Amino acid sequence: MAQTPRYRFAPSPTGYFHVGGARTALYNWILALQTNGVFVLRVEDTDDSRNNPQWTQGILDALAWLGIDSSDSHFEGPYFQSANAALHVAAAEKLFEQGKAYYCDLSTEDIQKRAKESGKQNERQGYDGYSRDRGLGPGAGHVLRFRVPEGSTIVQDQVRGEVVFDNSTIEDFVLLRSNGSPVFLIANVVDDITQGITHVVRAEEHLPNAPKQQMIWRALGHEPPSWAHVPVLVNEQRKKLSKRRDKVAVEQYRQEGVLADAMKNYLMTLGWAPTGDTEIVPFQKIVSEFSLSSVNHSPAFFDIIKLQSFNADYIRAMSLGDFIAACEPWLLGEKAPWLAEKFDAKVFAEIAPLVQTRVQLLQEVPSMVDFLFCDLPTIDDVSYAKAFSTDWAVPTLVAIRDGFKTCEWKAESLKGVVDKVGEQNSLKLGKLQAPLRVAVTGRSVGPPLFEPIEVLGREVTLKRIDAVLVKKVS
Ligand code: GLU
Repeated sequence: MAQTPRYRFAPSPTGYFHVGGARTALYNWILALQTNGVFVLRVEDTDDSRNNPQWTQGILDALAWLGIDSSDSHFEGPYFQSANAALHVAAAEKLFEQGKAYYCDLSTEDIQKRAKESGKQNERQGYDGYSRDRGLGPGAGHVLRFRVPEGSTIVQDQVRGEVVFDNSTIEDFVLLRSNGSPVFLIANVVDDITQGITHVVRAEEHLPNAPKQQMIWRALGHEPPSWAHVPVLVNEQRKKLSKRRDKVAVEQYRQEGVLADAMKNYLMTLGWAPTGDTEIVPFQKIVSEFSLSSVNHSPAFFDIIKLQSFNADYIRAMSLGDFIAACEPWLLGEKAPWLAEKFDAKVFAEIAPLVQTRVQLLQEVPSMVDFLFCDLPTIDDVSYAKAFSTDWAVPTLVAIRDGFKTCEWKAESLKGVVDKVGEQNSLKLGKLQAPLRVAVTGRSVGPPLFEPIEVLGREVTLKRIDAVLVKKVS
């Protein structure tokens, strides 16, 4: 019987969960679903100085948000690397006993000095194998190094093809630090072996680790997994996305009101495309079509503008009920800019269709409707100055107000009043309604104006127009 493919995602919880990590997780998840395999989540929490339980929780939450569901039968874990330290050390010691690793007592300064003196910095990247045959055992200040064999190491990579490494460029790397703690290279391999991992799909930055890890796999008596190193994500300057420079946290996009489905779909179009003429496709189509061999080799541009446009499409495709439900975190509770008792769900539901077609992020929703739930809108100075910079602004607004006093209180009739004033003054609706919009909503942009004015009612609308006219005249 064929072996069940076992993929894994092995994040280090050292910061906010990165969009690049989310893409790698999705690749592994999709491949596990596609092959009816297993997705193992392993939290690589061995760097005590940088780990924090908050980051681990952030990873678990973000994965769940993306639909990588820990209750699904394809999901296994989470495992925590720190729990396996004894296994990592035992494996390293086994390599020592078999002569595949050796202890060395040189300090970093000693190594640099030797490299400088020999003038051969490029060979074995600094460390020259000085202790290979010195027969040292464990002891204070001794590190355990892997004895890199002669020849070359070929990594068969599902994205990059065959990648050949000349072993003479790989120094005898450290397995155990001088305090006896295992390094990432061996901990990661031992966990993969212990957890029966058959496929390693991870970020390209780990490609230089692959030959070393492949040597460890073989030295421990196992065939290496199938490798795939996926190209990095870059910003618009083609620089690798960095948490210092770029907005990389999945959580931040979620807070802004990016929908999980839009994020998933967008991440999957970075360096890969589904068949057909649109990139916006159901997740099922991605699961059935995705393949590592069709992932582009070059870095993929993480384009926030494009992500937002995907999101806008996803928002428009929602049912009205789903849209209203998705808006809730921004309408109720802390995020809302109005007092809780002022919010009226019925009023929002009436305007929601107009809002749904105009926002790219759910966080934009409150500013489109706040004028409905605040007593008097705060008018920002720039909008105000702009709307009232003409000599026709005040007289036409007075005429509109007078029309509003008696007209039927329906969106079409309200628009009729404004159209008429427009005709009388030879002004187009777009221009003419700017002062009205600012008076009623406090802003120069927003959803179509007449439906919200209908909802707002005659009394409130007239009060707002008057408040602006008083301010203007005084
Ligand atoms: N813990 C490593 C990282 O977060 C991943 C190692 C791997 O996928 O092999 O970069």
